[in-house]
Order: sequence, then C-alpha cells, then structure tokens
Amino acid sequence: MRKRILAGNWKMNKTASEAVALVAAMKDELCQFSSVDRVLCPPFMAIPEVARLVAGTELGLGAQDMYWKDAGAFTGEISPLMVKEFCTHVLIGHSERREHFGERDESVNLKLKAALAHGLIPVVCVGETLALRQEGRTESWVAGQVRAALAGLSGEQAAGVVIAYEPIWAIGTGLAATAAEAQRVCKEVVRATVAGLYGQAVAESLRIQYGGSVTPANAPELMAQADIDGALVGGASLKAADFVAIVSAAAQAQPLA
Ligand code: PEP
Repeated sequence: MRKRILAGNWKMNKTASEAVALVAAMKDELCQFSSVDRVLCPPFMAIPEVARLVAGTELGLGAQDMYWKDAGAFTGEISPLMVKEFCTHVLIGHSERREHFGERDESVNLKLKAALAHGLIPVVCVGETLALRQEGRTESWVAGQVRAALAGLSGEQAAGVVIAYEPIWAIGTGLAATAAEAQRVCKEVVRATVAGLYGQAVAESLRIQYGGSVTPANAPELMAQADIDGALVGGASLKAADFVAIVSAAAQAQPLA
C-alpha cells in the first residue's frame, strides 16, 4: 500500500528566523498525521535551523535542489553530502529550476541518480506548459520527462522515487487542475509510463503527487483520487493553518490501493 506524501515547497521564501516561526506554528499539528509522510522544503539557509526543530519527529526535511557531484569547484552549488547531513528528501527538476535556471532532463537524471546513491528520497517534478497543453502535447511531454528522469535506473530504484505531476499553468496561479484531470494524467501518463518501463508492480508502488495551486478547499477532492498519492504544495505551505489542513485532508482520504 502506498503511503501518501505531502511536501511543502517554500521556494525562495522565509529567512532562517522566519522559518523557525513557521515550523513552530505547525509542527505539533503536523506531527499528529502519522498516516501520511510530511516533508518541509525550506530554502537552504534555513535548513539547519529547521532540522534542529524537526529532530526527533517523523517530519521529513527536503532540499529544493542539489548538484550531483559530491564536492569540488562548483561555486554556489550544494552537494548531496551537504544535503544528506540534514535532509531526508530532495526536490529535483522543479519547473522553476527548468524555466529560470537552465535545468535540463539530463541534469535531472544525474541529480536523481546522485540522490538515490546517497539515500535521499527524490521528488522529481514533471509537467507541461499551457502552450503544450493547448497543442495537445501534454501526454507526450510528461511521458518524455518521466522517461528522461528515470533513464538508467533499475526498477527497484524507480519504485523509491516520488514523481510530482505539476502542470506549469497551475503553479502559483490559483488555477488548479480539476481532480479528474490530475487523476487522469497521474494514472494514464505518469503511472502508465512507469509501467511501460518497469512493469505494473513497480508502477503500483511508485508514489505520484499532484502539485499546482493546492489549497485546503481543493485538497479533499484531489487527495481522494486513486492515483494521486499526495501533494507538492507551494504557496499554501507558507501558511501554517493551510498546510496543516491540506495534510489533514490527505490523512482523512480513503487508504490508497
Ligand atoms: C510548487 O511550488 O511546486 C507549487 C505547486 O506551487 P503552488 O502550490 O503555489 O502552485
């Protein structure tokens, strides 16, 4: 049975001291929902402080990106060794990294392999732009991103990856995908692509999140979908009450197959 996973991507928000206040405001409530995995992804500068606060709890801590090399002359980058000293998870290939910082399918794949090699749980983001959707290319684009991300991984490795389906037109816009459409892409594109690569058993154990304007209002319906195994939450994860409500909705949804 898949365990739902809810991750809050704080993006470039919250100084270290602000991060402490945000975690303090939601930590105790988040800790109550142990039927789902809960992961906080603050900016790098806040990670050590947040790590101290979540130590001894079941809350996961994620980096928002990392480089794939262990160390060396890569000014400005963060290595898997640095990440794993504090974190359990790492976001890879977020659309904002792809759009603004030149992230490519090839680097996503290298980062994914590095994360797995270092025992980090990777959350790999895929999703189409509005233009691609309007051109009828959603399926081929998302399937291509999934294939490229997983290239060279064994079935066992692939089963340990979390894929976040995040239509770019839904991120930060307030226009979430309908639950039916998110379910369709998660099942018929993401899970089906993984089934084509590794077989049904691996596909059934892979966790797929939906991301894109998830709120306390739409979370219950999204989380009730059979192939949506959680959410990657941006804006709403910056408000303690909203993130707790989204986690609560996921915890209350029917158990996954
Ligand atoms: C995200 O940052 O991955 C995201 C889905 O953002 P938002 O929830 O704000 O749309």
